[in-house]
Amino acid sequence: QAMIEAHDLSKFYGNFAATRNVSFSIKQGEVAAFLGPNGAGKSTTMKLLTGYLAPSTGYASIAGHNMASDRIAGAKHLGYLPENGPLYPDMSAHSLLTFFGNARGISGRRLEERMESVIGTCNLASVIRKPIGKLSKGFRQRVGMAQALLHDPDVLILDEPTAGLDPNQIREVRKMIRELGEKKTILLSTHILQEVQAMCNRVVFINEGRMVFDGTPAELTRQQ
Ligand code: ADP
Ligand code: ADP
Repeated sequence: QAMIEAHDLSKFYGNFAATRNVSFSIKQGEVAAFLGPNGAGKSTTMKLLTGYLAPSTGYASIAGHNMASDRIAGAKHLGYLPENGPLYPDMSAHSLLTFFGNARGISGRRLEERMESVIGTCNLASVIRKPIGKLSKGFRQRVGMAQALLHDPDVLILDEPTAGLDPNQIREVRKMIRELGEKKTILLSTHILQEVQAMCNRVVFINEGRMVFDGTPAELTRQQ
């Protein structure tokens, strides 16, 4: 079953196409990389997929829900790690997760259980009451992951999950993503080919807003 689908997605800013006629379909259980250099259109396409940006052409669907007409149903399935981690630097991770949980219709005992689970998975216990803006890049990224995982979605869209992390943190995040990939469908963006080989069984390559490859990491390496 297709869990993440881009149908002819384009986004124009004036005459400039940040992304142009992008179509692909990620099936249940796949861990896909969205590979491309900086400025290729990865973040823009991801925001079109999450429904955060409105496309100029085409549409996105998540778990079969059209994100233009049926976005709330799609968002229930979807966890999203935005480009620079969570917004709201003055909030603590605890407040952010509570707020986000409530916005997703989770409260009471269930919210406590989910919070405990993601705080454990993302190793956040030591910083949970501190303002997010005061945390290191690595911890901010983990708060973003905790937010993406809080409502236990089966689809994850992760925008550069290892960007700006040190080698130890990168190893931890890769391990976490490999474990999550055993249960969830994942699309993660990166500009590093190694990252694809370390985590993914599918790769969509984008350059200057256009898709230039869609296949397995082995096929991509053979082609180059
Ligand atoms: P990537 O995530 O691959 O680095 P982006 O999707 O962030 O690429 O950006 C793709 C292109 O679109 C870049 O040239 C960027 O400058 C441009 N772009 C992104 N957002 C906007 C915007 N709001 N207005 C104008 N241009 C934008
Ligand atoms: P709304 O603004 O309509 O209440 P949300 O802000 O909750 O919707 O989410 C907008 C879309 O982006 C959703 O599809 C959601 O999955 C995704 N999203 C989740 N968290 C963030 C975030 N921190 N920044 C941007 N988009 C997010």
